[in-house]
Amino acid sequence: MFPYRKTKYSLDIVFPNKMYGGVYSLGPLIIYNLVNQRKDWYCERVFLDHGKIQAALVGFSLQYELDLPKALAMKPKQGITFAGGPVAELHTKEIAKHFDFLILGDIEAVLPQVLEEWEKGEKDFLKRIYFLPGVYQAGKQSITKAKLQSLDDAAYPLVQPFPEIINENYVFGKCFILEIERGCPFSCHFCVIPQFYEGKMKYHSLNSLKKIIDEGLAINHVQRIIIYSPSFVHPQRKELLKYLLEKKIRVSFPSIKAEHMDLETLQLMKACGQKSFTIAPECGERLRFTINKKVKDEEYFSFVQRCNQAGIEKLKLYMMIGLPEMEKEDIEEAAYFIQEMKRRFKGRLYLSINYFVPKPKTIFSRQEFDKKKAKEQEKILLQKLQNIKIKMPKLSASYKEWLLLKDLDEEGQIKDVANNKYQGHY
Ligand code: SF4
Repeated sequence: MFPYRKTKYSLDIVFPNKMYGGVYSLGPLIIYNLVNQRKDWYCERVFLDHGKIQAALVGFSLQYELDLPKALAMKPKQGITFAGGPVAELHTKEIAKHFDFLILGDIEAVLPQVLEEWEKGEKDFLKRIYFLPGVYQAGKQSITKAKLQSLDDAAYPLVQPFPEIINENYVFGKCFILEIERGCPFSCHFCVIPQFYEGKMKYHSLNSLKKIIDEGLAINHVQRIIIYSPSFVHPQRKELLKYLLEKKIRVSFPSIKAEHMDLETLQLMKACGQKSFTIAPECGERLRFTINKKVKDEEYFSFVQRCNQAGIEKLKLYMMIGLPEMEKEDIEEAAYFIQEMKRRFKGRLYLSINYFVPKPKTIFSRQEFDKKKAKEQEKILLQKLQNIKIKMPKLSASYKEWLLLKDLDEEGQIKDVANNKYQGHY
């Protein structure tokens, strides 16, 4: 492609899955903007089904473990490769064996220095970046993370390109991604998100968010803004919502923390165009407290009441089966809770039931995936919820995901991933 020939340096950032999912990934967008803003550099995003790796420096954004076989198959034989993203954060030593280096933590805090070193020449490049905080190479003793003090300290990825023609697979249409906070202040025992940022929260200030919105909407011709935040707890979220309302653009929100949503916030979100809300009670109250999601059933019921007052039309519940210590009584408790939510909610209630897949670096990482028990729990639960529309993944898919995570966790097993042992799953 022409721009590669025109510039002195180039970097390709690879999202090893379909473009219709990858365009919504923030990591590749951050790199795309950081690199292209730099003099003499050119960066292109490459997806599994779109684009071709051409640069001498190639980064891989590893968002999901199941994408790893695809990433390894796409990896060029020549050039320098690096990887980053949740999978590199969680399985650092194993992933490092397959790339020249990894970038860990806040990429904005280290990538500029890496690029600067690349500009000095490829010879000894890996040696020169070895001690940079946030750079990890196989065999290195200490794992460090690059850290931004505040999200305002880094330039925001304002240019967010979409293909000219998109189809229905692009679920959010052409949109502008607005990251408002990074990290999560809660610490549910099964979740890896708080660990990526060592339990610390970072926010964009309201002023900087307003500026990003104005500039982002001026640059990108989009129909909506998607808020990126794991739990939507920004201290000035109401002011932000009011500002978004003035812009008269549709806004979509992530899953929300029901117990932190007051009536005014719900009303503002609805006024911004959000028709359905997703909350994740996970299970019945007893087990919920055991997994450190300390929210009582009563708090969910009063949330439903506020949803009714705000005129919310759809509510989606995210629940799990196969959790550690989950017994028949817990399934019955969960079924009662769901039916109670349905009875109290005036709109339509949807249910997503997922098999618990233990994640690495959580206290449940050594938990076995008991297929037989999960199947039994599913049977009991579905029998009690025949009046509710339910979405569920395949048990075999969740089980394969667990097998892959288990192998990644054990030194030396990753070669099976490279040999595509799990390829049948896709
Ligand atoms: S609130 Fe959500 S993102 Fe935060 S720790 Fe719990 S499950 Fe993870």
